[in-house]
Amino acid sequence: MSRIIDFHTHPYRPADLAPAMWQFVQQISPAVREHGNRLSDPHYFADALRAQGVERAVVLAEHCPQTSGTVRTESVIAWCAQEPDFLIPFASVDINSDPEPAALLKAYLDAAPIRGLKLYPSYQFYYPNDPRLYPVYDVCQAARIPVLLHIGSSVIPGTRIRYCDPVCLDDVAVDFPDLIVVMAHGGRGFWYDVCAFLAMHKPNFYIDVSGLVPASLRDHYPDLDRLAQKMVFGSDWPAMPKSVAANVEVIRSLGLPADALEMLLFRNAARILALS
Ligand SMILES: [Zn+2]
Repeated sequence: MSRIIDFHTHPYRPADLAPAMWQFVQQISPAVREHGNRLSDPHYFADALRAQGVERAVVLAEHCPQTSGTVRTESVIAWCAQEPDFLIPFASVDINSDPEPAALLKAYLDAAPIRGLKLYPSYQFYYPNDPRLYPVYDVCQAARIPVLLHIGSSVIPGTRIRYCDPVCLDDVAVDFPDLIVVMAHGGRGFWYDVCAFLAMHKPNFYIDVSGLVPASLRDHYPDLDRLAQKMVFGSDWPAMPKSVAANVEVIRSLGLPADALEMLLFRNAARILALS
């Protein structure tokens, strides 16, 4: 059995989410219905993932005051610090509401073992090639931490999907050749082909398969056997309609080359996150 890193989970913080976001999570998540508020304990949260075969999990801050909520980086740092060998914090900054987002990110990196940055273009209302993001990308490239961007559809009220257009990331690839870019949801709904092109042709670009129906991956990406070498596994847990283990099971049954499967489930993430 290959090892598993989950590159995309969300902390359980109902009070920090916008009401519509929390309602959505409750609707789609059997894990929330099963475990409820016990998930707010990071030890319980980590154990629930360990029980599904996960070895390490990225936990995403989400500072999107205009739409989904304000799960600030400070709270995610404190939460992950209680399970430091398992939970990996990612920061979140917003160029529309944080006065100095690059300096803020730098301060987070200096203060805690942050391993990446999550950006939410359709929730925070900017394109991925917005010049105001460039100082933020500078910080990430210098610190050798990946940028994970929400790239694809969303049903959360108030989100503006056009901001996720992955063609904008081509500029980022040109201007930041050493920056590691991970496209969460792989262009879900409209842009599978653009995301596949970028992942195949840009050495530091990857697709995170969270939020995609794993049984449909071959429909979305005809060249999946090769493309899987540029993918990481993410679940969106606990905001997902199945379990992490069930999604991994389906991915294992897709008939991928053994090497590509290992890269998707573990090795790419381990390298990107610089895990020893
Ligand atoms: Zn997510």
